[in-house]
Amino acid sequence: MEEIYCFAGNPLDRASERRRDAAWIASLLDDPAALILPLRELRPLTRGSNAPVLDWQPIASWQRRIDDGATLIFLGLGDDRRPYFAIDAGGVDGLFGDETESFDARTLAPLLPGPEAAILAEARSLLDWHARHGFCAQCGAPTRVTAAGWVRRCPECKASHYPRSDPVTIMLAVNGERALLGRNRRRPGNRFSCLAGFMEPGETLEECVRREVHEESGVRIGRVKYLACQPWPFPSTLMIGCLCEALSEEITVDPEELAEARWFTRDELRAMVARAATGPDDLTQVSVPGPVAIAHQICRRWSYGLDGL
Ligand SMILES: [Zn+2]
Repeated sequence: MEEIYCFAGNPLDRASERRRDAAWIASLLDDPAALILPLRELRPLTRGSNAPVLDWQPIASWQRRIDDGATLIFLGLGDDRRPYFAIDAGGVDGLFGDETESFDARTLAPLLPGPEAAILAEARSLLDWHARHGFCAQCGAPTRVTAAGWVRRCPECKASHYPRSDPVTIMLAVNGERALLGRNRRRPGNRFSCLAGFMEPGETLEECVRREVHEESGVRIGRVKYLACQPWPFPSTLMIGCLCEALSEEITVDPEELAEARWFTRDELRAMVARAATGPDDLTQVSVPGPVAIAHQICRRWSYGLDGL
């Protein structure tokens, strides 16, 4: 069965064929059952410190900000057809009660039920995109939000601009009973992870995996097997997880990208996965990222023999 990783598994019906219908969206905004998630500088408002939950609020309490033209996004319909929205809450502190806090989405996501984390990914990516796309890429004029937050339209040249996801391949290169991990220059301690890189235009998934592994580590790659993917809303990436077959063993790291790359045995990797799953990082020990990251899941699946080439 397909496994669902953090930020995947969004339960909402996005009703993408109807959200251009302004009258329909207006009727949803009038629905007293409708809920809205405010995000302040891309951090969702939450309630409760030890076990925070997303602070879904009635639309009515945000009407003034909606009327003022704050970026508003229709996220979708719940199972019971209840409409869900997100809004850029701006920096107005007076609107928030004592119980309200806001958390960075990456910190918060592992604490949330899976479906809530996935909805948060949708909201965060969209609001971030709007914040960075105020002007038309074609003619430079200011653009306007339409289609309930899913399009920005240029009133001058009539171009429509759509939010994008950027595909990134993330892969574990395997040579028999050993797998290749890299240590990033920018991360502290002894944290190793899968190699990864952005797909370039005109490139297939397989070509990207082979290019990135070779660029970063000097290792040549043969077969590539897709495992699973994960939305990663920082800002709007799709992480495409793969296993791939190493055809060579000698490592020559690209010092711009990696401080080090190393082969780990299946047993070593399994121990690293177990450590990362149970507790906070001990930076002196070799480790892999925690379960929120698909890199963890790829390492887990291979080291426990759940996936192979
Ligand atoms: Zn334009």
